[in-house]
Amino acid sequence: MSAANSAGLASPELFVLQDEEGPILYAPLAGLIARANATAIQAALAFARDPSSYDAMDKDQRFVVDELRERGFFASHTRPSHDTDFRPTQVTLFPTNRCNLRCSYCYAFGGEGGGNGEPLTTMRFEVAQRAIDLIARNAKERAAEGAPIHNFLVSIHGNGEPFCAFDLIREIVFYGQDVAEELGVPAVFNAATNGVLSEEQLDFVVANFGSINISFDGLPAFQDANRPTANGRGSFVAVDRTMRRLGEAGVNFGIRTTVTANMVDSMADIVSFVADNYPGLEQLHFEPVWECGRCKKSSNAMPSSKVFIKRYLEALAVGQERGVRLVYSGARQDMLVDSFCKVSSGSFTVTPTGDVTACYEVSYATDPRSKRFFFGRFDARKGDFVFDEQKLKELSSLNVHNIRYCDNCFCRWHCAGDCAAKVLDGIDLHEHHGSVRCEINRTLTLNQIQRRLDWRPPDE
Ligand code: SF4
Ligand code: SF4
Ligand code: SF4
Repeated sequence: MSAANSAGLASPELFVLQDEEGPILYAPLAGLIARANATAIQAALAFARDPSSYDAMDKDQRFVVDELRERGFFASHTRPSHDTDFRPTQVTLFPTNRCNLRCSYCYAFGGEGGGNGEPLTTMRFEVAQRAIDLIARNAKERAAEGAPIHNFLVSIHGNGEPFCAFDLIREIVFYGQDVAEELGVPAVFNAATNGVLSEEQLDFVVANFGSINISFDGLPAFQDANRPTANGRGSFVAVDRTMRRLGEAGVNFGIRTTVTANMVDSMADIVSFVADNYPGLEQLHFEPVWECGRCKKSSNAMPSSKVFIKRYLEALAVGQERGVRLVYSGARQDMLVDSFCKVSSGSFTVTPTGDVTACYEVSYATDPRSKRFFFGRFDARKGDFVFDEQKLKELSSLNVHNIRYCDNCFCRWHCAGDCAAKVLDGIDLHEHHGSVRCEINRTLTLNQIQRRLDWRPPDE
């Protein structure tokens, strides 16, 4: 399978893809896909470039153009954009950088203070309170302007294991519930955790959290080797217990598996293992490890793009058979966006020290990337958050409209330039030249397009 893409045409956007069966015409903004022969492709591209070329076309070419036009292939569509009005109604809190595990590839040196000797610390409750107040204020304001607010969302994440600050999480949840009640909307809590939780913590999660993401490396041996506890023991038994309990209690949970070169050949086995053991699972997210943080000091390596693609597709087939939904972040043909994540709309993420970052992976002031991603902080004197408008403006420009490298890529409104922390590490936007992930993103997105082409209504 190849994911060759032709020049993208300015208006309308039409791409020619290629697979073993021949060319595919793809209009991402219209959500339209067609298999076509070379003559039809030529006619379509000629018409898209210059509609007056229709007059000189023969009967067959006109037939093709008429058919495609009728289905909307040449219609203009608004390009995706993002909200530039920074009034968040969601917050992500990093309660602590302490961690009970020492994962060999941890991007944040969890439990070791970021790798530059930063102290281990826990967020002050006041910081969390003011962040919740801020999103509640915005929710009220937006509701008064007629924007429907269905809930407000508090996500618990970390550059450590958030539940190592369990007392604080409890306070956050109770406070959030009170504020939401005053506001008359439900508070929704979700969390990303390593799953090594006590009974008490599990009870609390089951009672209060809407969804949970567990980082789990898919098979007991990988989990114990890559994600050991701080005292060097395996963590599988504890995480397994957590996932079984969540499943029994009916809590939505997903698994995020970081795939290293030595695990990549086992991706299909991982799908079978989770299908056999965790029937409550919502989705399994495979992500090739990115060599950063503690990973650089370990023997873990990113799998080659080709091998990851091959094994992901095998795993996908097993997932379809076994009812496990598979996800990889760079392939999402069903999404139209101009930014890979919320980084360009000023994702409101608060670190344990009260700094505000737009990126989950950049959480220390000593990280050189903080110059780009930090855009505010909790001001103890004012008792509230202050934001840097100029930084917000610069973050807003981190979108695919401004990335020339992606102009001709058929994934540009899906992948939208990929993860800024990875591809823009130390470089400016105009130097964006993709990454090894591009091949994975394009091939797996093409696979999604092919699967849509192959789809038939169930009764056919
Ligand atoms: S559990 Fe998360 S924060 Fe802790 S070491 Fe592992 S990856 Fe890092
Ligand atoms: S820039 Fe990348 S690492 Fe940062 S929040 Fe977005 S997807 Fe995550
Ligand atoms: S980062 Fe790569 S895959 Fe993503 S839109 Fe740009 S060129 Fe395409």
